[in-house]
Amino acid sequence: MMTPILELQAVTVSFDGFLALNQLDLKLEAGELRAVIGPNGAGKTTFLDVITGKVRPSSGQVLFKGKPLIGKPEHHIARLGIGRKFQTPRVFEKLTCRRNLELAVAKGSSPVKLLLKPLTIELRERVQQLLLLVGLGAHDQQLAGGLSHGQKQWLEIAMLVAQDPELLLVDEPVAGLSDEETIHTAALLKELSGSHTVLVIEHDMDFIRDLQAPVTVLHEGHVLCEGPMDQVQADPRVIDVYLGR
Ligand code: ADP
Repeated sequence: MMTPILELQAVTVSFDGFLALNQLDLKLEAGELRAVIGPNGAGKTTFLDVITGKVRPSSGQVLFKGKPLIGKPEHHIARLGIGRKFQTPRVFEKLTCRRNLELAVAKGSSPVKLLLKPLTIELRERVQQLLLLVGLGAHDQQLAGGLSHGQKQWLEIAMLVAQDPELLLVDEPVAGLSDEETIHTAALLKELSGSHTVLVIEHDMDFIRDLQAPVTVLHEGHVLCEGPMDQVQADPRVIDVYLGR
């Protein structure tokens, strides 16, 4: 058996006695595309916060490629190869798409430093590849602030991929997107899963179906069930949780 890229073992997070995560077990194999769903308050954000080191569990274990993560600072965990895309895009609105990506591939650079020391040919090619990957090839000179909400999400995904993470954590990438943008985002994440492990949190069920990925349902801080979307949707426990008892 291969070591899973990510494993949570009986992870519990308590906020003043309230269990946001309650003995959560979850395994992700390298190269997997996985969707995580669950009603509001199920613990999805806390789950990402625990992986990225923002929240420290009161008990349990989080392993990345077999090595314990708990207690490591957020920047250290990011450097190990875990990238997180937040729900609200964090792009530099006053810079062009291309410049945003140049800054991302030149890890830790600044617009001024880039003017003084231009990127190598390899890194410029990487920027071009990333623009094409996310479908922003024709928008490279456009200011990020003028992009549609969907295009901003894709730019941010490209900026995240530029950091070369092995595991991508993507939080609600299609909230507020048009149907067309949603379909493009599903295709993009599917393509990325060819070279990365991708975990997506989302509410949009059409999008999840489109991803054709195994689904994990969280409820009250633990895994309620896992499986293909059709199976999960037909599970009486899931129906109960979503429709209320
Ligand atoms: P989801 O992302 O699935 O909506 P969350 O992980 O945000 O769920 O929250 C799980 C539960 O933990 C919720 O009931 C929420 O109110 C609670 N919670 C989250 N963060 C905190 C916090 N910092 N302090 C107290 N309670 C919190």
